[in-house]
Amino acid sequence: MTTGMAGDAPALAGAALAAVSQLAGADLSVLNESQLLELIRTMETLRRTVEAFDNVTIPELEARGIPARHVVRSTGQFVAGLLNLAPFETGVRVRHARELGVRVQLTGERSEPQLPVLAAARASGAVSSRQADVVIRCLGTLRAGALPVEELAKAERFLVEQAELLDAGTLAGIARRLVDTLLPDGTLADERFQQRRRFLSCVPNGEGMHRLTADLDSETAALALTVLHSLAAPKPAAEGDPDERTAGQRMHDAFRSVLKIALRSAELPRTAGVPATVLITLTAEQFETRTGLAATSFGQHLSVDRALRLADQAGIAWVVHDSAGGVLNYGTTRRYASEKQSLALIARDQGCAFPGCTDPPEWTEKHHVIPWSEGGPTDLNNLVLLCDYHHDRIDTGGWQVTMRGGLPWFVPPAWVDPEQRPHRHTRYAVPAG
Ligand SMILES: [Zn+2]
Repeated sequence: MTTGMAGDAPALAGAALAAVSQLAGADLSVLNESQLLELIRTMETLRRTVEAFDNVTIPELEARGIPARHVVRSTGQFVAGLLNLAPFETGVRVRHARELGVRVQLTGERSEPQLPVLAAARASGAVSSRQADVVIRCLGTLRAGALPVEELAKAERFLVEQAELLDAGTLAGIARRLVDTLLPDGTLADERFQQRRRFLSCVPNGEGMHRLTADLDSETAALALTVLHSLAAPKPAAEGDPDERTAGQRMHDAFRSVLKIALRSAELPRTAGVPATVLITLTAEQFETRTGLAATSFGQHLSVDRALRLADQAGIAWVVHDSAGGVLNYGTTRRYASEKQSLALIARDQGCAFPGCTDPPEWTEKHHVIPWSEGGPTDLNNLVLLCDYHHDRIDTGGWQVTMRGGLPWFVPPAWVDPEQRPHRHTRYAVPAG
């Protein structure tokens, strides 16, 4: 080990940075083609080598217990804070460092990395981060399948050789076949591996949104895809007002629907003595003017309009406070429709009331025609069942709902129908029973 250099590391890193900075201003037009290609290859090797240095620094941080001293939940979170990175960016670095960095025992003794051949290939810049990821995942599966140590070492050497020749996508195919060959009862090993590797996180992405990242086991993936696909189908087009969401946007909205359904089901475990509740805080001024951003107890910000619409659903509580933090007013789901009213509403609307929509009652929200926050009463004549998507068409899509003869009618915006003729769901035309 080159411990003799260790004290010089900051100076060496500084010199490397200075050298690369000089390159930034270089005039490449003087190079011939082969010199240019050589330069591009060298820079790629440099990039990989610099990346792989995380496998040196991260184990050192952990060996010293620095993340724990700063009372953060994980090393990834510590590094994210230190470098202004999003936590999802640092997660993969920490995962790699644990496989490719020196391992520090409780006694302080240092032993060689779990995957020494791959670690050396990374350090020399021969293998990219993505290629390393494929190798690490494959060897993790083989390890979970209880492959003997010497077989594992052989597999590591083989995969690293391939990684130096093939791109990450092709390498993944080879890794898959290797697992099938070495673990004939691969399914079982996969299940054990999946149980260890299962993971889901939802963290700020630094742009006001959150990034959901997950490695789902087969069972969860099957459930997720079944449920999400059933909810993500495009909504039947109202005349001149088609569902213009992308496939990704429809999946996102389906996911939101699942969460709202869970919240309404009242089957979630109680926390702090109350049923699972989204707590929303807004100021008196925000409540009055319907402007600005309200805060949830998890720190998300959403427009006051959105927040009040959420508050219209079960499982939501809201608090209005003055500038000194005193509570002026609060609401809970108790102002919400009684069980009797809900049943009457389901009997009347039988699902989303928007013309053409086939969503069943279980997937719908109760919409106040005159918002409850504007004094709209919670009675049958002021309530309509709407799916999440059509609730949006009312709130932001220009559609309006009015009650006539005890039934909801929907008035399209002028750009959909210049005459704005009201529609109602064909269900109401058929006498019940
Ligand atoms: Zn609908």
